[in-house]
Amino acid sequence: MTLTQANTTALTREALAAMDASDPLASFKEQFYIPQGVLYFDGNSLGAVPKTVEGRLQKAITEEWGNGLVRSWNTAGWYEMPRRLGNKIARLIGADDGEVVVADSTSVNLFKVLAAGVKLNPNRRVILSEPDNFPTDLYMAQGLIQLLGSDHELVLKPANEIMGAIDENTALVMLTHVNYRTGAMHDMNAITAQAHAKGALVIWDLAHSAGALPVDLTGANADFAIGCGYKYLNGGPGAPAFVYVAKRHQPNFSQPLAGWMGHNKPFAFDWKYEPAEGIGRYLAGTQAVLSMTALECGVDVMLEADMVQIREKSLTMADLFIQLVEQRCGSFGLELVTPTDGSIRGSQVSYSHPQGFPIMQALVTTGVIGDYREPNILRFGFTPLYVSFTDIWDTVAILADILQKRTWERPEFQRRGNVT
Ligand SMILES: *Cc1c(COP(=O)(O)O)cnc(C)c1O
Repeated sequence: MTLTQANTTALTREALAAMDASDPLASFKEQFYIPQGVLYFDGNSLGAVPKTVEGRLQKAITEEWGNGLVRSWNTAGWYEMPRRLGNKIARLIGADDGEVVVADSTSVNLFKVLAAGVKLNPNRRVILSEPDNFPTDLYMAQGLIQLLGSDHELVLKPANEIMGAIDENTALVMLTHVNYRTGAMHDMNAITAQAHAKGALVIWDLAHSAGALPVDLTGANADFAIGCGYKYLNGGPGAPAFVYVAKRHQPNFSQPLAGWMGHNKPFAFDWKYEPAEGIGRYLAGTQAVLSMTALECGVDVMLEADMVQIREKSLTMADLFIQLVEQRCGSFGLELVTPTDGSIRGSQVSYSHPQGFPIMQALVTTGVIGDYREPNILRFGFTPLYVSFTDIWDTVAILADILQKRTWERPEFQRRGNVT
């Protein structure tokens, strides 16, 4: 069922069940393990586990590691994994073979491309971003600037002022495509074009885009991108991340984390660093094979699905969620902070509420798992491969009940863990 049909249908649980029945992506839910009684709206923070992971990891442990031992670097394809997985992820983000490599964490990969990007624009001093960018992105830029010991500067402008703030001092624009807190999405094509027109380069953080919606880095003429393996790619907690560098930039410099796996001939054991041809130079040291093995399962499921269908379902789910919350929770102080216009929204819906933290705690106790972000944001991520339309109905019903009965006032819902 399309969104327009959904709009004209009276919103009932039956109507949503009918949408599930005709959903072309519905069968994907069986490919994931979701615990009984859980309605999962936090795949934007940690994706669910694909059922193939357990058997695949078992095989990697017993056959590849156990029996193959060190031989498996050659015989089980371990050595090639970062590039091979990179080529798979490339297909999800509109990149070519040889433009993406899987390695390290998002933060570390950001450091690599920041350093490389600054070097490509040696006469400019400004890294431009927004104060609402994900903190690790801002921290990594601050760390690099401190290391450079130069007069580089991190300049922060609100999202709607970024375009106008790009000028002849801007070396790099560093943005997260979809904002982690609000779900608002930048216009990748327009900002990239504007940056290029002013002689600047752009780094796109795809943490909330890769696997969530169609991304076309080639179409946007992008320079650099990084992204996360454990969110919409369902790679598992702390899964390796990826880095994209447009082919035209690859030969021009090397990144500073010059580990041996990024060397042109790691097993020549030469004393002198010489970067690998192509994207391989963005590797540093030995990569986490077992973690990449799990990540590959997540990416493979994603590659089976049609990204256009994923996007359509995600937008429909979010629209329904917004409508239902308005109808059933309208008078309890929830304020939508996500754009209602789907064309500038990622795959999440967020609300602010002064009691956001205890409300989310109360929800999680019922099995509805979303998350909370400071200062007062309740976040609901939509992962069309394993969330159904009726899940949305049930979630809003539970949320309405918590707000109505003020269950969130109970003292146990005020306590904070290490991770929120
Ligand atoms: C989740 C996220 C990260 C995570 O970085 P790690 O190095 O994996 O901790 C980085 N940037 C953004 C925008 C994110 O949402």
